[in-house]
Parts: sequence; C-alpha cells; structure tokens
Amino acid sequence: MKKDCVFCRIVGKELPSHLVYEDDKVSAFLDINPVSLGHTLIVPKEHYADLLQTPDEVAGHMMMVAKKISHSLEETVGADGFNLGLNNGETAGQVVDHLHLHVMPRFKNDGLKLWPGKQVDPENLEKIAKRMRSFIRKD
Ligand code: AMP
Ligand code: ZN
Repeated sequence: MKKDCVFCRIVGKELPSHLVYEDDKVSAFLDINPVSLGHTLIVPKEHYADLLQTPDEVAGHMMMVAKKISHSLEETVGADGFNLGLNNGETAGQVVDHLHLHVMPRFKNDGLKLWPGKQVDPENLEKIAKRMRSFIRKD
C-alpha cells in the first residue's frame, strides 16, 4: 500500500469507487472518465508501478480477470468488442503510477479510432525481430 497512491486508496476502500470485481490479487472498478459505457480498470491489490515491476502470476491473473469483465460487458451493456489498454510509462500516457489494465467496450459505429500504422521496410522489421529474439528468454 502506497499512501499517496489513488489506486491503493481505492483498493483499501479509503476512496470510493464503482467496484465491479475483486479477489485476493486484484480489484476492478469503473474508470471515472470512461471512453465508453462500462470502461473498467483492473488493478493489482499490491502496489506495482507498471507491468515490468509486476510478478508474472499477478500480470497473468489480470488477463484472466479481463475475460470475466469482458463477458459481463457483453451481457450488461451489449458490447460488440473490446480494447484492452495498458499505458506503460509516462511516454506511453500512463498517468496513475499503479499498474492498471483498461477494458474498453466497443460498440458498432462508436467512432473510436485505433492508432494509425506506418509503412516500414520489411528488412527493418526482421532486423528488430532478430534482435528481440536473441534478447527474450523463454523461461
Ligand atoms: P492512464 O492514462 O492509463 O494512467 O489512465 C488512468 C485512468 O485512471 C484514466 O482513464 C482516469 O480516468 C482513471 N482514473 C483516475 N482516477 C480515478 C479514480 N479515482 N477512479 C476511477 N478511475 C480513475
Ligand atoms: Zn498504488
């Protein structure tokens, strides 16, 4: 628990939230500025600043909970699809420094847009992939 962290305080019920799910590892509550109806944040109960600081077991569990939340949004608000979002680091738009996974329901013709893709040289793609393969361990 980090005293000055808004999400720690929500997890600890010191601050109000619209809670939709909790278990021993995570809490899930509605985003106060939703991009769409039902936009939910899943956060670890322990304070971890971002994904890279978070134990694999907790990070994996968050994805399992994202499925539960997504099912509930299909049934309740009639979502046609979902975007899962995780802004990792200030450069990526992370504002609250307690890991959170956004579950954003999508509706046909909701007008929301994804990031634009760029044209790149395929050789560059393979160069990067090769470097990444040599760096990533499989354990
Ligand atoms: P990010 O840019 O990924 O760090 O997103 C932070 C998100 O937290 C934003 O979508 C905010 O609307 C949301 N948020 C901030 N404070 C609260 C709060 N007290 N309760 C619910 N959501 C919050
Ligand atoms: Zn926190």
